[in-house]
Amino acid sequence: MTTPDVTGRGLGLMNIPGAEEVMPPAATASPAQPTPSPPVATPAASALPQLKTPGFSPEAARQDFPILHRTVNGHPLIWLDNGATTQKPRQVIEALGAYYSAANSNIHRGAHTMAREATEMYEAGRAAVAEFLGAGSPDDIVFVRGTTEAINLVAQSWGRANLGPGDDILVPVLEHHSDIVPWQLIAKETRARVVPIPLTADGAIDQDAYADLLSYRTRLVAISHASNVLGTVPPVKEMTALAHRYDAKVLVDGAQAVAHFPVDVQDLDADFYAFSGHKLFAPTGIGALYAKPEILQAMNPWQGGGNMIDSVGFTETTFAPVPHRLEAGTGHISGVVGLLAALNWFTSFDRDAVAAYETALMTYAQQALATVPGMDVIGSAPDRIAVLTFTLAGHDPATIADWLDRDGIAVRAGHHCAQPALAHYGLESAARASLALYNTSEEVDQLVASLRRLQETDQETN
Ligand code: PMP
Repeated sequence: MTTPDVTGRGLGLMNIPGAEEVMPPAATASPAQPTPSPPVATPAASALPQLKTPGFSPEAARQDFPILHRTVNGHPLIWLDNGATTQKPRQVIEALGAYYSAANSNIHRGAHTMAREATEMYEAGRAAVAEFLGAGSPDDIVFVRGTTEAINLVAQSWGRANLGPGDDILVPVLEHHSDIVPWQLIAKETRARVVPIPLTADGAIDQDAYADLLSYRTRLVAISHASNVLGTVPPVKEMTALAHRYDAKVLVDGAQAVAHFPVDVQDLDADFYAFSGHKLFAPTGIGALYAKPEILQAMNPWQGGGNMIDSVGFTETTFAPVPHRLEAGTGHISGVVGLLAALNWFTSFDRDAVAAYETALMTYAQQALATVPGMDVIGSAPDRIAVLTFTLAGHDPATIADWLDRDGIAVRAGHHCAQPALAHYGLESAARASLALYNTSEEVDQLVASLRRLQETDQETN
């Protein structure tokens, strides 16, 4: 095959003549020279276990991220906003440059070499996503802009055809707004009902309430594989099996899960599974929807246009087979190229070792944060990803985020698009540190030291 390798494995942008001029700064050259940050005393650090996970080193991962070598407000960047989006390894950045430098073309349409090559790359991306999710075939994968679009697609296509008056859509209170609002919109049109599944005090889905709410009226259960606000990882496989006893379908929102632990959609027996590339080290604007083949094949188009038809006439128009039938218009080709590079990069790690490292880092962070006066971390379900949402006595979340930003530490403050989940704790807003494989215990120490300084400064001024 003569297709340029833009997968991030082989050809980098540097192999293309003139490419140096369009390359972003290399990993070692920071946009701003780091100014040494003052040494921080980490009160609890000596008491905490050292983080060593066999089979994975965050330092090796960090080397691939140019952005982690920049400074913010005179301090080395500490990126703890991975729940919002992850940073991109140079393999992804270079793959995008290589694609636009040597391989750009529309797909499927032209009969020329470039179109063929671009089509091969696009379909290689689909095959890689299928493998990553454990799907049976690349044909089970629809490319979308992200998780939000995937859920809207299911609501508008499957939902419109399968929901009717009196039908129930069960949605845990835990969900992101993008796994609530699309169901509300289609429920209004079809006169179905969106029924919230309550949470327990620790932020887990109340399984007894779930079992009670399920009935033969339940058409769909929509659950996150990991919560973006509490980190909760629900027992999705068991919940799916229970839903199937009532012939209900299950949609799993994998936006926060895929970067943290291995996923197998066939093992889960999920009917739909959605994720966003940008939370998985890939570019924004690209994501994927998996659906079981028999469900996908019965799904009607939700948008019309090019690429999704077999033939168009004013008396009759016929549609292409899935997944193309659900992908109207020109897709995000470079996004797929970037996603393919991200998957190749990410799957080169021992995924179980990555998950074990992140769990150890979260335990470390929980213990370290507990030493900050006035700290309240919300959500303590037993199975969780490394998301720490907290309030700090005496400071609103926006002030906390602003203070940390001055130390180069990026956390998010606000409602995290999960207002019902925060309301469960009587909150409208909170600060959130969300960790990824490239975060270290030293960065957690810096976070804790900065928060302690905020509390000390506060005491001095009172
Ligand atoms: N679901 C969850 C659990 C999320 O965390 C997010 C993003 N914060 C989304 C859905 C929506 O993802 P996107 O904005 O990429 O479509």
